[in-house]
Amino acid sequence: MDRRLPDPAHSLRRRDLIRNSVVAGAGLAAATSVLGRAAVALAGPADAKEPKYKTKHVIVVAFAGGVRQRDCVGTPQNVPNLMRIAKKGTVMTAVKAANLGHYGAALAIFTGCPEAQGIRQNERGTSPTLFEYVRKQADLPAHEVWLSTAAGAQTVNFTYGTDPEYGAKYGANLIGTDGLFNAEFRDLIQGFGQVSVPSAEESARIEKLAKSLDPGWLEGTKADGFANDPSANLRIQRYILEELRGDTAAITGPGAGDAKAIRVARNLLRLFRPRVVGVVLQNADVAHGSYNSYVEVIRRNDQEVGLLWDAVQADPVLRDTTSIFVLPEFGRDAALNQRNGLDHGDGSEDLHRIFCVAAGPDFKQDKVLQKPVDAFDICPTVADLFGVKTPEAKGKSIRGLFA
Ligand SMILES: [Zn+2]
Repeated sequence: MDRRLPDPAHSLRRRDLIRNSVVAGAGLAAATSVLGRAAVALAGPADAKEPKYKTKHVIVVAFAGGVRQRDCVGTPQNVPNLMRIAKKGTVMTAVKAANLGHYGAALAIFTGCPEAQGIRQNERGTSPTLFEYVRKQADLPAHEVWLSTAAGAQTVNFTYGTDPEYGAKYGANLIGTDGLFNAEFRDLIQGFGQVSVPSAEESARIEKLAKSLDPGWLEGTKADGFANDPSANLRIQRYILEELRGDTAAITGPGAGDAKAIRVARNLLRLFRPRVVGVVLQNADVAHGSYNSYVEVIRRNDQEVGLLWDAVQADPVLRDTTSIFVLPEFGRDAALNQRNGLDHGDGSEDLHRIFCVAAGPDFKQDKVLQKPVDAFDICPTVADLFGVKTPEAKGKSIRGLFA
């Protein structure tokens, strides 16, 4: 259990609560409080099975924007870091893309559903997301579940869907690097002077700032029913100030949006050690106009994913308890277009058949899994790691991945 986040009793089942209270020789008051919470747990909606895996934290990187297998795991020199991670885990080489819209196909990774045709880019999906399943059944507070995205208004839709059993109150905290690093936001923060994050005086200023703003000033908290508890909110605000002071804001050049999204995820992990972090990338879609720029984006993203992985390995808590999945939403055409770019629409194997690199304490090491699986199997696989069910998902947990 994560020691920095004082929430352990929350996600445990009744018999574990009782057993733990006995084993730990808890005093009467503590036992009473534990039993009180157990009663709440019984009455509540939480129905997660006791997780049987070592994984306590999961990172899902949608290496999206349309990326071919042959340009990544098929060309190891483009992705030395992914290959390094793969060596510690499993490469799945026969992953079928869910569908062929950037949005729908990426969403499918998080919902476990191939996603009905016709969901427009600016609409939420009808199926619950991985974030909702895990938060609801494992009874996790909002600050345990995050989504970091490159850009675009539609990315807000990845945080939760419209299923009335789930929805906003089980959604993920969203950091769209677009919003976070936009000039208006930076000016607002800079209006409060030179910020030194941990000082008490600054904390007071931050609190004042928070009060002066809409409570939903973080994108994604605007929706009804979604809320971080006040102490988490304060930590989140401090974190955002750190981000703005730090070097993430200064990233420029091709693929800068993606690089920021991965960097933000790394900082989130370092500071919050959340249970679930999703990252949605998209800059590789520059390929429509230039194959070379596309390869540049892949290399840069690989480098950032490598740094993310290294940060996890350097953290004594995360190292042995974190699993990562990296996969695109679909590939691209087999042949270059007239601009020396790559579109996505030829129906080729390069387009439909993608890859996934998965590593973590519960997975096979240094293996290639050639058995066909679906991109929308990732959601149920992650849920499985948490002992959580995905009743609305069409995908299945990828058993061949587990050691
Ligand atoms: Zn495209």
